[in-house]
Amino acid sequence: MPILQDLIHAMSAGSLEVVDLTARLTSDTPILQLPPQFGQTATFELQEISRYDDRGPAWYWNNFRTGEHTGTHFDAPNHWVSGKDGEDVASVPPSKLVAPAAVLDFSAEVAANADFLLEIDHVKAWEQTHGPLPAGGWLLFRTGWDAWSHSQEEFLNADDNGPHTPGLSAECARWLAEESPVIGLGTETVGTDAGAAGGFEPMFPCHNLMHGAGKYGLTQLQNLAELPPTGAVIVASPLRIVRGSGSPARVLALVER
Ligand code: MN
Repeated sequence: MPILQDLIHAMSAGSLEVVDLTARLTSDTPILQLPPQFGQTATFELQEISRYDDRGPAWYWNNFRTGEHTGTHFDAPNHWVSGKDGEDVASVPPSKLVAPAAVLDFSAEVAANADFLLEIDHVKAWEQTHGPLPAGGWLLFRTGWDAWSHSQEEFLNADDNGPHTPGLSAECARWLAEESPVIGLGTETVGTDAGAAGGFEPMFPCHNLMHGAGKYGLTQLQNLAELPPTGAVIVASPLRIVRGSGSPARVLALVER
């Protein structure tokens, strides 16, 4: 099959780079914090079973405990009530897990305003320069927010008025869900919605509208700065958790150099 032969040649020639978009997963990986009346997601924890010792002389291994939505992770449609009859993470077709990406860089705007919201007009202007969003692909929203992922406090960036992190306006989320050809939205922040999105109409519009339309989310991505605006191919690999609403995922990008 010539396409895969070309791919193999490009990999051995070094003209195809694999970029890791995945955050390191440790007990310090930032997690979402909801108001105290709600259930909370778990931080990632390793529990050692044995380490070349009496518990297992020749082998090292761990159990782990984590939230489905901890670290770099995939949001399935059934994560939100609007998508409750939609796919669980185990049912997402593998053909959706390998897909092209458009990378929209608004890191300069976000550096000036942590509450920056992507609007439909921003996306339309981007399309004027780079062409239409990829059918069956991802919109990856680059904000530079991965720079704060070493610190729970800086990553959530909350004050008395709540968290201040970038996202999409409700109008833009609706357009992305209902009118654009993408299968999902990827962000660098703790979730796909803006920090202030609990007060939007509808509440958390990226979750509500995207999952209601059967679309997906990828969050806490890193290294989007290494991707071109168009032409990268994303490989997202959530665990196939039956009935799962999402999963930590290794997310890779294939980039031609
Ligand atoms: Mn999530």
